[in-house]
Amino acid sequence: LFVDHPLGAGQPVPLTREQAHYLFSVMRLGAGAEILLFNGQDGEWRAEISEAGKRGGEAVCAERTRAQEMPPDLWLLFAPIKKARTDFIVEKAVELGVRRIVPVQTRFTNSERIRQDRLQAHAVEAAEQCGACFVPEVTELARLDRLLDGWPAERALLFCDEAEAGSRSSALAGVLAPAAVLIGPEGGFSEPERARLGAMDQTRVIALGPRILRADTAAVAALTLWQATNGD
Ligand code: SAM
Repeated sequence: LFVDHPLGAGQPVPLTREQAHYLFSVMRLGAGAEILLFNGQDGEWRAEISEAGKRGGEAVCAERTRAQEMPPDLWLLFAPIKKARTDFIVEKAVELGVRRIVPVQTRFTNSERIRQDRLQAHAVEAAEQCGACFVPEVTELARLDRLLDGWPAERALLFCDEAEAGSRSSALAGVLAPAAVLIGPEGGFSEPERARLGAMDQTRVIALGPRILRADTAAVAALTLWQATNGD
């Protein structure tokens, strides 16, 4: 269970109303039951429920069961698409292991607003389900051109370009963290965007096989390929 609270031996940790509902009503746990807690910094802790109420509760940390693990310093930049597919992308990015998720607004991005809090909550849920012990930050929607203006010199930008579909690219080999995968919207990238990305030193143009993939498939494929070749 993810908690926004320090964890340490003997540390009491408050449980929110939602967590209380899940633990005490859905899972039917009560005082004395053991649960696992993480906060993304202090590792994973076994804790004992000390208070079980309708509006909240408390657990007391007993011992650390895992040291803090961090995913490699890989970011996912993607243009938000329909709600369910955006949720899917966030969920899979957490499972596959990224440090940060950045929704980007490109020339052909369909949505101009996102519910950042909802996507962050989704990331928490995904981390809890896959035992990740770390929740990547989901940032606010950022404009691609502004992001590129301040792009760090040392961070490789893995530009997944649908125009490369069909070519065989080995550009992923040896691209170590820090890195970022960039996936475009349903409409793809505009020519000026493609030209700007192509001119940057940090850019590696990535082809994801013979066919044009949907954005959610492309995100999963690119993250999997990077993790398989360069992840740790
Ligand atoms: N409308 C575009 C077209 O017809 O050319 C397709 C965009 S595709 C649905 C969405 C995004 O997935 C692309 O912007 C790209 O980032 C990624 N993508 C899809 N297939 C790809 C491939 N074969 N190679 C590299 N990137 C791909």
